Amino acid sequence: MELLTIGAFSKASRLSPKALRLYDELGLVTPARVDPVSGYRLYAPAQLERARLVAWLRRLGMPLTRIRAVCDLPPEDAAQEVRAFWERVEAETAGRRELATFLIGHLSWKEPIVPKQLQIRYAALSENGLVRESNQDVAYADSRLLAVADGFGASGASASAAAIEALKSVEALPAGDLLNVLDEAVEQAGRAVTGVSGTEESGTTLTAMLWTGSRLALVHIGDSRAYLVRGGEIFQITTDHTMVQAMVDDGRLTPEEAGVHPQRALLLKGLSNTDGTALASAPDIRLHDAEAGDRYLICSDGLSAVVPPEEVRRVISTVAEPDDAVRELVALAIAEGGPDNVSCVVADVGPAD
Ligand code: MN
Repeated sequence: MELLTIGAFSKASRLSPKALRLYDELGLVTPARVDPVSGYRLYAPAQLERARLVAWLRRLGMPLTRIRAVCDLPPEDAAQEVRAFWERVEAETAGRRELATFLIGHLSWKEPIVPKQLQIRYAALSENGLVRESNQDVAYADSRLLAVADGFGASGASASAAAIEALKSVEALPAGDLLNVLDEAVEQAGRAVTGVSGTEESGTTLTAMLWTGSRLALVHIGDSRAYLVRGGEIFQITTDHTMVQAMVDDGRLTPEEAGVHPQRALLLKGLSNTDGTALASAPDIRLHDAEAGDRYLICSDGLSAVVPPEEVRRVISTVAEPDDAVRELVALAIAEGGPDNVSCVVADVGPAD
């Protein structure tokens, strides 16, 4: 068998001699022979395939130790390893994308020379519905805080109430200190829910907006939702932390299939009274520059999963008064059979008086 010099092998594999020496030291691609006199590394042509695979995996950003494991596997198992590696990369990237978006908004925001003089007009309404024994939802609105929490489990009502109480106790928001304030608020809400008693797991979703006077800081965990109506269009500005939404994101379900999936209410995240579960994970945090004319809707799944989206859209874009809008939205859910507790908050951003 004709062996290749490191130079020839380098050209054929498109790996630099320096990289080949490193891979040798790491045991990734061991030369077929090392000349005992000159110390030159010699490679067999059959090693090209492995060397190319190493190069491709490096390009993928796979750590060297993991590359070694993949190279030693039969092709089918190697394919599975690459798939698993890439799924983790994508999950991590998605998590960091949220944080990056938040930080970009935070860092690029400039205190306006003439401060925006905005205020919000708001209404909140929560009702039991026609089926549930009690109302575990809480809807809350005041001049600084808009929030919906949807409790679950035996102590769900205490959990949703505790989360909102914790946010209410956050002092007035200095715009420059927003990061600290948000972190603190979320932590307090988490602690409050952890303190809820009960042997079975209980917890709550939490979708809340804290108003600074010109910006809204959004905190979101679970499957309650926030929508923004701006310029005649309606945007859902939260992502459901549910199993079915994750399957839609992966292309395994269509949004239509997700809406009727038997496990559509299964949460991937929430604030929970049991530590160490998957539910005790970090909320999404985001900043919104408010504009005069904006309307925000926050609602529990007792509205969004029950009332057809076009009906929600119609009410939210045509009913002028927040008070009337929340009443109409809740009435729609009741008219659909009111299978769940139903809550909504509507807030309009307008110029200050
Ligand atoms: Mn619900």
